Amino acid sequence: MKIGFIGLGNMGGPMALNLARAGHEVTGFDLSAPMPDGVQPAASAADAAAGADVVVTMLPDGAILRRVAAEVIPAMQHGTVLCDCSTVDVESAREVAGQAAHAGLGSLDAPVSGGITGAAAGTLTFMVGGATEAFDTVKPLFEIMGQKAVHCGGSGAGQAAKICNNMILGATMIATCEAFALADKLGLDRQKMFDVVSTSSGYSWSMNAYCPAPGIGPTSPADNGYKPGFAAELMLKDLRLSQQAAEVADASTPMGQLAASLYARFVEQEGGRGRDFSAMLPWLVGMHRP
Ligand code: NAD
Repeated sequence: MKIGFIGLGNMGGPMALNLARAGHEVTGFDLSAPMPDGVQPAASAADAAAGADVVVTMLPDGAILRRVAAEVIPAMQHGTVLCDCSTVDVESAREVAGQAAHAGLGSLDAPVSGGITGAAAGTLTFMVGGATEAFDTVKPLFEIMGQKAVHCGGSGAGQAAKICNNMILGATMIATCEAFALADKLGLDRQKMFDVVSTSSGYSWSMNAYCPAPGIGPTSPADNGYKPGFAAELMLKDLRLSQQAAEVADASTPMGQLAASLYARFVEQEGGRGRDFSAMLPWLVGMHRP
């Protein structure tokens, strides 16, 4: 397939590289990131999109996606597919899908889980919103870039799944960190707590697969000085997207709201920016009860 790839940063770079390695003809555009091996550079987003069967975007946020989509959609041929893999607000995803449909294009919102290591290894999970026909067109590409693609429903359903998942992740990471902080104060050995909780009803991905306590459980960013991994400011971004969506949909999400405010404080006032999102643990350990 001929693929236009726009946004070749930490995630998009390795994803485009995997597509090129699999033998697809990939043309890329980014404002600053270098082109991965085998990806032909284009002079603009529109140039990268012209002549492509599928255009993949992997951009920082919804406002940038809207700008790029406005440039790219007129350059695409009728019947081709625009596939956005960024994490953005549901509204932006639906608006871009509407514009694509108006221009006679297929479109998908297909955010990912799995982070930078998953992008490099080609083991991402895609959660996908959009028409079945567009999903079927892009499926072979999802199979190269990832290990699983779930078709979640119509436009916006992929973003909805992503922000619901990450709202759970943010809340369980905080709960796991505060349980370790409490265990410390109660004189309970961290390893013993892990041994119990990881096989009891308090277990979660945050505890079992990404333990925030250094030296305990599988290797995680905690064992690497809390270097991300998944940066706290990206978790904050996703929690804010969940709260924005909850407001629009009139959904009650008190835990998500509290998680968003704790990550906002951690990132914006307590030096959490640039640290892994599990660095909540040393922050909470050093904190006194309000
Ligand atoms: P990044 O900042 O490394 O990459 C984004 C790229 O987009 C940058 O290289 C930037 O130069 C480029 N860009 C910005 N505006 C552009 C424009 N107008 N035209 C062309 N290129 C432009 O970010 P990332 O970590 O690769 O994340 C990308 C998306 O994936 C985000 O939406 C993020 O929330 C999501 N995501 C990231 C992770 C992760 O672990 N990093 C995990 C899951 C999802």
